[in-house]
Formats: sequence, C-alpha cells, structure tokens
Amino acid sequence: MKLFPIFADLKNRRVLVVGGGAVAERKTLALLEAAADVVVGAPELTPALTALAADGRIRYLPGRFDPAWLDDIWLVVAATDDRSANATVSDAASARRIFANVVDDPELSSFQVPSIVDRSPVIVAISSSGVAPVLARRVRERIESLFDHTLGQLAALAATYRKRIRASHPDLGARRRFYDWLLDGPVAGFLRQQQPAQAEAALSDALDTPIAPADGSVVLVGAGPGDPGLLTLKALRALNEADVILYDRLVSDDIMSLARRDADRVPVGKLPGENHHATQARIHALLVEHAQAGRRVVRLKGGDAFIFGRGGEELEYLRTHGVRYEVVPGITAALACAAYAGIPLTHREHAQSVRLITAHCREDEDNLDWPALAREKQTLAFYMGVGQLDLLTRRLLSHGRAAQTPFALIENGSRPEQRVLSGTLEALPRLAAEHGIHSPALLIVGEVAGLAPKLQWFGQHLEGR
Ligand code: SAH
Repeated sequence: MKLFPIFADLKNRRVLVVGGGAVAERKTLALLEAAADVVVGAPELTPALTALAADGRIRYLPGRFDPAWLDDIWLVVAATDDRSANATVSDAASARRIFANVVDDPELSSFQVPSIVDRSPVIVAISSSGVAPVLARRVRERIESLFDHTLGQLAALAATYRKRIRASHPDLGARRRFYDWLLDGPVAGFLRQQQPAQAEAALSDALDTPIAPADGSVVLVGAGPGDPGLLTLKALRALNEADVILYDRLVSDDIMSLARRDADRVPVGKLPGENHHATQARIHALLVEHAQAGRRVVRLKGGDAFIFGRGGEELEYLRTHGVRYEVVPGITAALACAAYAGIPLTHREHAQSVRLITAHCREDEDNLDWPALAREKQTLAFYMGVGQLDLLTRRLLSHGRAAQTPFALIENGSRPEQRVLSGTLEALPRLAAEHGIHSPALLIVGEVAGLAPKLQWFGQHLEGR
C-alpha cells in the first residue's frame, strides 16, 4: 500500500492554503466544510475568497509564501499555478514535518486528498494513489449511484440510538441482525419517504420487541422503455436490493440483467388464455404473499407504472393489506420515444399541449372526446395503438384533423431495434402495414412529428410517402 488512508479531524485546527485562485477557493471551501481554521496566503484572492476574508470566515495573509506562515499549522495545501512556488511550500512543510498536499501533483505531495462520496456521517474515500485519477473518479461515480442520499440520516439516527440498541440487544449476533433490519426495513424506508418522525417511531418501537419481525415491502418501479441507461438511480438501487422481482413482458432483458444475481425473477405477463382481470388478481396476490413473507419485492413495469400501467390499483391493494410500499417513477414511452425520435412534444410554434392517450377505441368502449383531439397545435401520443391505426386515423380525419398532419410511429423506442416511421395522417394505416410495424409502438400525431426527419439521431428512420 503506497498511501495509508486516514480521516483527519480538522475542526478548529489551522490549515494553510497557499494560492488565491479558483483551485485554492475550491480547497478552502472544502476545508471550511470540515470546520477547519483556514488561513489563505496569496498575493491576490478571488472575489469569493475576498468575501470570506471580509466575513472573518478565513484569515488572509497577503503576499508571496513565507515559511513563517507555517507556524502553528497542522496541514498545508499548495494551490498556486507555479510549480516551483508549490515545491518551495512542499519543501518548507517537509522540513517542519507538516503534511502538504500540492494540488494535482502527487510527486510534491506528502498527503493526497481522495475523491469522496459524502453521506455524512458516512464518507467513502477513494484513491488511486495518484496514478489514475480518472479511474478513481469512475469508481466514485459507481459508489455514488449505489447509496441513497438518506443513508447519512440513517447513520445519524442509528448513532443517537446506539446505547439503547446495545442495551436491548446485548448479544452481538442479535445486534447485527437488528442493524441489518435497520438498514433494510421500514426505518430506512420512512427516511427515503421523507417521514423522519415515523422512522424514529419505528426504530423506537422495535427496541421494545426483542427480535425485529420480518417486514417485507414493495417498490413499484418504472423501468423505462427499454434502454437500461434510462433507469433512474433509485430504480437501479431497488433492483440491487431486491429479493424478488415481479416483472412485466415489456421490461427488457438488458434491464433484468442489472438486477441482483440471486433475486427471484417472476414474469407476471398475461398467461396464454388468461384474461386481464385474472392476471391482475394473480399479481396482487403474489405481491402481498411475497411481502408478507418478509421479502423486498420489486414490482417492475415498462415505462412508468402510473401511465397505463395499473400501478394505482396495485398500490390500493397493498394499502388494504397493510403492505409498505414506495414508488419510483420511470420514463414513460411517450417521453422516451419522442426523445429518441427527435420529436419535441411541445414547441413554441407547433404545440402548446400534449395528451397521453390509450387507443382502445373499440366502438363499445370509446369515451374519447374526438372533436377535442382533432384540434390542431396539440400533440397526441397514443399508447397501444398499432392494432387500431385504421380506426384511429378515420376518427381524427372525420372530426376535422387535417389530412396532411404529420405523424411518427415509433417501434421499440430506445431499443437497439428502434424504427421510426413518419408521414402524413391520411397515409398512416397504409404505411404502417407496408413497413410491418409491430407492438410495442407509440404513435405521435401532431405538427411536431414533422420535425422527426430533420431532428432524428437514433436507430432507423423510414420516411413514408
Ligand atoms: N406504462 C407504460 C405503458 C404501458 S402500455 C409506459 O409508461 O410507457 C403499453 C404501450 O406502451 C405499448 O403498446 C406501446 O404503445 C407503449 N410502449 C411501451 N414501451 C415502448 C417502446 N419501447 N417503444 C414504443 N412504444 C412503447
């Protein structure tokens, strides 16, 4: 090990920063976060440093470096843009056995400042010993994505209860299990839900019961349209922590491959011959069964669970059965398909509103306000419409939408197989048939769709005539 990692308590300890430019300013601010007593020495200061000095938050030593500046100093950071000046500081510090960091210069430094992931009081520090800072940054990004920002709050809460936890769980094994429960169970959940009082109550209650009961929960997660890059960090974390994942047919394999290896994966798409009602009832029962068995359940849906995803019904069922849940939104097909086809859904000249519509326009269940939909200067995004393009087009045309209105039909949006077909409304059913467009596909109708040929940037574009 080339460098020995330490975490220094700089509170009220005097630290010298040599240099008064942007880098020195950044370092000063970081040191102030750690409550260090910062002295900045330089011929000139940035406006922000000048302001800090005026407020008395730092002390300013004007002029060029003088070894006397090192009197009473614990640490020094050299941040001038002159290597020989930095070397002078570093040498003078070494002579007095004061640790010195020269920014971006491991050779001249006797200590280095790691990249950090800050979930105070939990801090993760990463170093490549100065040899590969870019790699260290990558590692930091990875770790950053793993932990929710409320982790620090959880650690702080655990710290205030440490004595009571020790008293109620004197046995080490039992105490470990309690801490696991603390990290995985309702306390962490309430903090993520920004309900700190409930979190504390749950912790306090659990202290009175010797063994924490198994307590499962459900995270309703929107997986987005297919490209795994469109998952949110929260979705990724939920997949990393899941014991069991109930997923829909629309969720891509690429996304499933990101889930925790030993999570049970349960496909809950429609079974052959099963009707939607039976499918939904089966999903409800499975969710409750797994959660009540103490598992962390992820209910994973394509796009967003609250947009034509029946997420609301599932939550109502969970609420009735007293199962804890959280919701992680996903990028819905309309947003993703528009973005990946180069179609701005609103546009100052072409559209002032957007509608997300499910295209079940069978005669008997058609409650849509077609005259309103046929108005111009609005964007219509139809979900589940490939089977009814003919009917849909006829409805729009007969209620007055212009035959020349542009459309774009996006098949497998955001996936490697994406195809975008564009043309004018009157030709839509014919063109879709000619090109054999299949589900999943999203239809966008409106003036903005005319921008697709010009702004397209992803996958295949087919311009229909
Ligand atoms: N909850 C989902 C929608 C479910 S309804 C969401 O928010 O996106 C299913 C319909 O969504 C499909 O029939 C199709 O119209 C649309 N869809 C979902 N994923 C899609 C994709 N990758 N490309 C195109 N359309 C998609």
